[in-house]
Amino acid sequence: MITIKSPHEIDLMREAGRIVAETHQLLEESLRPGMSTLELNEIAERYIRSKNAIPSFLNYCGFPASICASINEVVVHGIPSKDVIVHEGDILSLDIGAILNGYHGDAARTIACGKISDEAQKLIDDTKQSFYEGMAQAVVGNRLSDISHAVQVYAEDRGYGVVRDFCGHGIGTKMHEDPQIPNYGKPGHGPRLKAGMCLAIEPMINLGTYEVEVLEDNWTTVTLDGKLACHYENTIAVTEDGPVILTAL
Ligand code: MG
Repeated sequence: MITIKSPHEIDLMREAGRIVAETHQLLEESLRPGMSTLELNEIAERYIRSKNAIPSFLNYCGFPASICASINEVVVHGIPSKDVIVHEGDILSLDIGAILNGYHGDAARTIACGKISDEAQKLIDDTKQSFYEGMAQAVVGNRLSDISHAVQVYAEDRGYGVVRDFCGHGIGTKMHEDPQIPNYGKPGHGPRLKAGMCLAIEPMINLGTYEVEVLEDNWTTVTLDGKLACHYENTIAVTEDGPVILTAL
């Protein structure tokens, strides 16, 4: 069942979302070559808790940290560790969630560590734009798969692989609510979008094949061909005036 949020609930989600966006900004400012992903996790957790929010990923289905930190060919769900060092030239996907007053915000960004290749920068830019192409379809009266289709077409037209094994989701008082939002599919399918639906749209776009595999820790997900992967996500609300990003500064 897809829940419809009242304007007041959307305001509460915007407050949770702002903390997530601020945490992303803080990590982007903090990142230096040679840092471990555990240091970034600690900065994020400290900031989220300083805002009286709770890092929602911590212990979610047993996940052992407050953020996901995924370097280069790691698509999603990288576990922060003191032994995982971010080097100059790496790209780092950070996924962050926070709960405030019972409502969730969830957003992901891929950022550069120092100077990166033009190819990596283009992947980051194109993945971000694929999110905006999807979000543009999140209007009242459209169908859910119109979002999925827009993401897929934008990414595949540029030669990328669109990850199929993970998808976006509804969000509210739970981090993962109905519906699931694949980043691929034919347009015109699924439920009609209504004002008050809150959705986490999150393209995961690979430089090569769309195929991924999960490593032995049961979390870390890498591209099958070892090429770079990128992730961009915001929590949005569908409104009568169009889609609104809730994980914004
Ligand atoms: Mg998400």
